[in-house]
Amino acid sequence: MTRQADVIVAGAGIAGSSAALQLAALGHRTILLDRQEFPRHKTCGEFMSPETKEMLAVLGINLVSRTPAPGNMNKARIILPRGGEIGAPLPGNATGISRYELDRILHEKAESAGAEIVTKAVVTGIRKLDDNRYEVDTRQGDRKVSYQALAVIGAYGTKKPRGVASGAEDTRDNTVYIGIKSHYRGIAIPEQVELYFCEGGYIGISPIEDGKVNVAALLTLDSVQGRGKSVQEILQKAAGGNRHLTARLAEGTPVTDTQVSIAPVRLSDTPEPWSEFPHIGDAMLMIPPLCGDGMSIALRSALICSGWTDRYLKGMISYEEWQTGYSAEADQEFTRLLKRARRIQKLAFAKTNRLYPGLARVFPGLARYVIKATRLSETGMAR
Ligand SMILES: Cc1cc2nc3c(=O)[nH]c(=O)nc-3n(C[C@H](O)[C@H](O)[C@H](O)COP(=O)(O)OP(=O)(O)OC[C@H]3O[C@@H](n4cnc5c(N)ncnc54)[C@H](O)[C@@H]3O)c2cc1C
Repeated sequence: MTRQADVIVAGAGIAGSSAALQLAALGHRTILLDRQEFPRHKTCGEFMSPETKEMLAVLGINLVSRTPAPGNMNKARIILPRGGEIGAPLPGNATGISRYELDRILHEKAESAGAEIVTKAVVTGIRKLDDNRYEVDTRQGDRKVSYQALAVIGAYGTKKPRGVASGAEDTRDNTVYIGIKSHYRGIAIPEQVELYFCEGGYIGISPIEDGKVNVAALLTLDSVQGRGKSVQEILQKAAGGNRHLTARLAEGTPVTDTQVSIAPVRLSDTPEPWSEFPHIGDAMLMIPPLCGDGMSIALRSALICSGWTDRYLKGMISYEEWQTGYSAEADQEFTRLLKRARRIQKLAFAKTNRLYPGLARVFPGLARYVIKATRLSETGMAR
């Protein structure tokens, strides 16, 4: 069976559902595909940086006015393994909302704009046909369903689906990480995001909706070998390297069925906005999560890409202009930000335990860097 559409968006996370919402609202027949069923929990720190508000407003979404109210954060606290601490105000109010809730809201909006969402649809191949149309193959249970469309957008996150051609070269870093997360109840933190460093990585705690907190970690795969198999075991072991974190986690209890993990996670060396079709979100650029800007980049790349794709679908620009225009804008927008973020990641992953005295001197700068330098300004350019 082959179905027709104007545009297929592969992956219905924050980037894909935002792009589908925009394109459907602009009148294009839009199909959004995802391998998972929604709502679902997703490995993420769930810290939405202040500038995401502006982009969500473009999509007609105001999280702050929702019930239950999301978490609010106006400060960051960095807690080093031996107890040293750095605090700094955020350049605006950040929002804490679970991906379970955020992605549900985006899907609701995309559907009411006219997008069709097909879940439990695993994308197994994307091909460009001779006339610049695309064919997208999916597996839906024991059925194979194909789609043909004028445009495809890759929004499948950090792991490229099998059967999708790679770009010219591998643009991801060689270090392999694992991301894990769990919600907790009973941990009362003030309006702040807390970042705890431990051997092999860091753990972020932020308040989300309904009085819960999200606990998410990024750890090198090497450092978790032999440290247990479940999210809870890995978290507890990692927390063992930072007594303040151990004490924090002991205040609460994990919320059942919110534990998820993702591996392997590999960070980008350079943005990859295009292979045979445009990429957005983590498929375009996986930035160190420490910077708390992944969702901001997902939203911004989705908005930029929808603009170029809309003009292409309306015949206002050629296929080549669609490709070069989006690639150039994405490169310009995100390359500088990525370079700074990678420098921070390097500092953060220096041997924190052994080099602590030196690190304490570096960290005040790092804290400012994390909080200010990686933020996208209102015009989208990194400061
Ligand atoms: C540990 C950790 C902590 C983080 N903390 C933060 C934070 O606090 N703040 C922040 O802004 N960012 C954070 N990030 C980054 C943020 O989660 C990502 O940047 C963001 O989720 C990217 O959105 P996306 O839509 O590109 O990808 P995703 O949200 O990953 O969505 C991709 C979707 O594609 C689907 N998919 C994949 N393959 C296929 C296939 N073959 N067929 C069909 N569907 C497919 C998946 O099911 C998924 O739903 C963190 C990341 C990690 C790993």
